[in-house]
Amino acid sequence: MTVRRGRNFLQTPGPTNIPERILRAMHQPAWEYSGPDFVELARECLHDIRPIFKTQEEVFIYASNGHGAWEAALSNILSPGDKVLVPETGLFSFAWSNMAEQLGVSIDTIPSDWRHAIIADEVEERLRADKAGEYRAVLMVHTETATGITSDIPAVRKAINNAGHDALLVTDVIASLACTDFRMDEWGVDIAIGGSQKGLMCPIGLGFNAVSKKARGVADNGGSPRSYWDWNSRSMVRPEAYRWFSGTAPEHMIFGLREALDMIAEEGLDTAFARHARLGDATRAAIAAWSTAGAMEINALVPEQRAESITTIRVGEDFDVKQFQSILRDKFNVAVGGGLGQLEGKAFRIGHMGDINEPMILGTLASVESVFDILGIPHGEGALPAAIASLAVAHKQ
Ligand SMILES: *Cc1c(COP(=O)(O)O)cnc(C)c1O
Repeated sequence: MTVRRGRNFLQTPGPTNIPERILRAMHQPAWEYSGPDFVELARECLHDIRPIFKTQEEVFIYASNGHGAWEAALSNILSPGDKVLVPETGLFSFAWSNMAEQLGVSIDTIPSDWRHAIIADEVEERLRADKAGEYRAVLMVHTETATGITSDIPAVRKAINNAGHDALLVTDVIASLACTDFRMDEWGVDIAIGGSQKGLMCPIGLGFNAVSKKARGVADNGGSPRSYWDWNSRSMVRPEAYRWFSGTAPEHMIFGLREALDMIAEEGLDTAFARHARLGDATRAAIAAWSTAGAMEINALVPEQRAESITTIRVGEDFDVKQFQSILRDKFNVAVGGGLGQLEGKAFRIGHMGDINEPMILGTLASVESVFDILGIPHGEGALPAAIASLAVAHKQ
């Protein structure tokens, strides 16, 4: 194995860097799971996670990754034979709807070119055409991690309202939570699905479902046979804390989450959003300069739709993404993501989410450019000065 000194730069869109503070908070012996100290800590976390979603509703925490949280949401509200509408965004909307199909749900997809956000008018049109009201839910990904595109949740809510449709609005906010503004209650979201390892800076291992009263009502009267995922049996109205996690709580993950919630509160959510936007802008400024040589471009075609937490860069035929990633990893200690799904081999992705700052982004961009030079990949000049200037402008405001 290669010996690597100094910091390893993890610039992938999940998992993200875990701050020392969170690691230290987790480094302790197990607690008595039903003792008053742990019960109090769990109760606090279940409450204090709510402002992250900007909701007053109950949030359920699973010992799972994001896929588990996806299944939790689907199994509580959908039965085999039910129909849902899925505006395609990229690999994650595809994988999520595949899961729904495996659970017996029938899917109608609104196709996308993976270069634009969800078109709310198309959602409205499909819902208007559904005279029998068959769609039980609209499943949408907020920030699509494969494409680096963020869709407009209020616009989709408005489309559902305009069509006078009763479908639930279910949003995957795994790659946007604590990175990009998200307002569950104000935006009329019925279920928001999160994970611990992206903007929340924790290890992989917690999945979240924030659930509206309307979705709770649907779950009370339907959904699929379920036990572990069942919202009602996990509800905090139950006195036994053991039930809140359908069994022994993932204590160490909760220790980490407590620290993460404190860190986010100290920084302030809006300050964290601004930091993500600033680092995203610097990344995009560099890519714009590189792109002038014609060998690459930002995947998202509409600037306002570019995600604050992840940038996907499309590359030309001659660009060997695997080789690029391995030199970047081996020689520079920098990990970036590859292309996913239809973009495999055709794109790479720079994560700028979670516990990162200016020098980390500048170091990443400089390393990326150096690997372009090693491999003879054509790129425009002035990328680093553009990123530096972009940061200076943001900080002068
Ligand atoms: C990372 C991610 C997921 C999947 O989460 P896992 O923890 O890998 O299961 C789902 N949706 C989006 C948008 C993601 O970024």
